[in-house]
Amino acid sequence: MEKLISRFFKIPNATSLPVYLAEGGYEAAKLALRNRKPEEIEGEVKRSHLRGLGGAGFSCGVKWSFVPRDTGKPIYLVVNADEGEPGTFKDKYILTYVPHLLIEGMIIASYAVGIHKAFIYIRGEYEMPYLKLKEAVGEAYQKGFLGENIFGTKFDLDIVIHRGAGAYICGEETGLLESLEGKKGFPRLKPPFPAVVGLFGCPTVINNVETLSYLPFIVQRGSEWFAKLGTERNGGMRLFSVSGHVKRPGIYELPMGILLRSIIYEHAGGISEDRKLKAVVPGGLSAAVLTADEIDVKMDFDSLKAVGSMGGSGGVIVMDETTSMVDALRVTMQFFAHESCGQCSPCREGTGWIDRILKRIVAGKGRADDVDHLLDIGKYLGGTTICALADGAQMTFLSYLKKFRKEFEDFIRNSSLRANAGWSSGGRPLGLPAPDGRSGTVSEAISGIASAGRLKAPSSQ
Ligand code: SF4
Repeated sequence: MEKLISRFFKIPNATSLPVYLAEGGYEAAKLALRNRKPEEIEGEVKRSHLRGLGGAGFSCGVKWSFVPRDTGKPIYLVVNADEGEPGTFKDKYILTYVPHLLIEGMIIASYAVGIHKAFIYIRGEYEMPYLKLKEAVGEAYQKGFLGENIFGTKFDLDIVIHRGAGAYICGEETGLLESLEGKKGFPRLKPPFPAVVGLFGCPTVINNVETLSYLPFIVQRGSEWFAKLGTERNGGMRLFSVSGHVKRPGIYELPMGILLRSIIYEHAGGISEDRKLKAVVPGGLSAAVLTADEIDVKMDFDSLKAVGSMGGSGGVIVMDETTSMVDALRVTMQFFAHESCGQCSPCREGTGWIDRILKRIVAGKGRADDVDHLLDIGKYLGGTTICALADGAQMTFLSYLKKFRKEFEDFIRNSSLRANAGWSSGGRPLGLPAPDGRSGTVSEAISGIASAGRLKAPSSQ
């Protein structure tokens, strides 16, 4: 199967401009600026069914069309490179291995929408990707691909790189804008949407790294070709970050309609040590968990929504039969409670209460009515808040409790026994290995995420 973005991951030194040029780099941007009208490109991108690959999954071309062109104010492009969704590490690969592809996509997007100033908001923890990106932007300026009169045309574009400081909520587009303006990363109430009132009160396009990196392919090969790679209204391919209990964690670039089963068992090599699959998070930590019986689902945005989950950021976290779902949910909700910005009561109080109750349960002090109590709190978590963090937390929280309710109830029922026997939350004696020698908690899955996300030559493809 032909690879698009990830083809570059295996080319030595594709991060440098000479190598990128030798591979046909910047030809699409030249073609766009010299031979296409901006509105033609916007039309192509709409017809390609390219969706926002950062998490929202909104049509990229339609998003551009919301930007008013006649306000007299500048229009900005902001690249969301604040990749903080647990289980997701694909933008890191693009920024580190082929940053010029992103810059080329930015030139195309800016030309299509009439933008002359673009910002890249990059996650603070991404030190190496930042250095590679900075070097690539410098090379592009030196070669005349950025700045004034790009490729000998009358089109100008400047790029500013801005580093984040480690807050998950700054990956939410309006929290990101606030942070970029030098304020606390508090998400804004919408509407107005950033397309109309964005950075410094001006119309703003916010696109994810991966989304922009597909634009050169669409310009060169056309919208019809790209759309056909995927499913209806979900064009092309995407980079899946696969982590957890699989034999070959890594990045896999596959068509939108690929089955989740195929990602796990064919591409990622199946479950580690040939254990059974227990659960999968299909689209980053905010997506509802799926059971082993639900993996014959297509991995496009619409199909995952139809089964009550979401495509999100494409982070696939695999958990095997030894995983404690109680522990998995505890770690998950601790994350959301920690990252809630605190503006909305349902999110701030809801995630906080859930976190405290789950910690009490894991400590062996669960009560008989805890599951019903948690479900009750979960009802009020989402739907009434400023941003989608609470909605994501609600979706994932309720899915664990409803799909694995019996495991939670059994855990609580046996909690006093566990406490008396000195057992861990994973149901095994502390300090003793599991019968098969593994700890089996989600902490292990999270360390799988960490090791899969560590920069190394991709083991996949
Ligand atoms: Fe902040 Fe949570 Fe409200 Fe989002 S939903 S604005 S993270 S409190």
